[in-house]
Amino acid sequence: MDVTRRQFLGAAVTGAFGGSTLGFDVAKATSVKRRLRLEGASISHSVCPYCAVGCALVAYTRKAEGGKVELLQIEGDPDSPVNEGRLCPKGATALQLAVSRRRVASPMHRAAGATEWRPVSWDFALDRLAQNIKAARDRTFVTTDANGNVVNRCEGIAFAGGAAFSSEEGYLATKLMRGLGLVHLEQQARV
Ligand code: SF4
Repeated sequence: MDVTRRQFLGAAVTGAFGGSTLGFDVAKATSVKRRLRLEGASISHSVCPYCAVGCALVAYTRKAEGGKVELLQIEGDPDSPVNEGRLCPKGATALQLAVSRRRVASPMHRAAGATEWRPVSWDFALDRLAQNIKAARDRTFVTTDANGNVVNRCEGIAFAGGAAFSSEEGYLATKLMRGLGLVHLEQQARV
């Protein structure tokens, strides 16, 4: 029987030749391999941080030798009415957020006029953030509008919340930003 390259690969994925052409049932082997890898793992539930769809995730972890927790796999949560176990290609790479060697592990700072970014501590980053927020607020705070109405608002800063915000985090962020006088607030997770 003549088999094209495309048919061969299709068979490998679907078992279209009855599972015997390749000598084994690929789907079954994949399922067994997955089961063995995740056997005894703890399950945690989370939400994909990438976009406003808010797909639910299941993370599998296991305590490795020395007590270190090892993240084994992240996949779509089949119990979620939002994604019913599915993830888009971006969400399907969520594991890399935690384990990729190319992940940036600390805040980065590029000083004014500099061409290079350098890693900095969280203390440094948070201090800079606070200083810049204060400076921008002082510079752009508006007390009265063009008609003389008292408005007391900060027009020079905008805030956008992420899709992984819980309701409580969203509430806290909104309180903080409104307290600073911000009027430009947006939340990614609108669904
Ligand atoms: S899996 Fe994809 S569609 Fe779902 S929240 Fe993440 S990025 Fe959005």
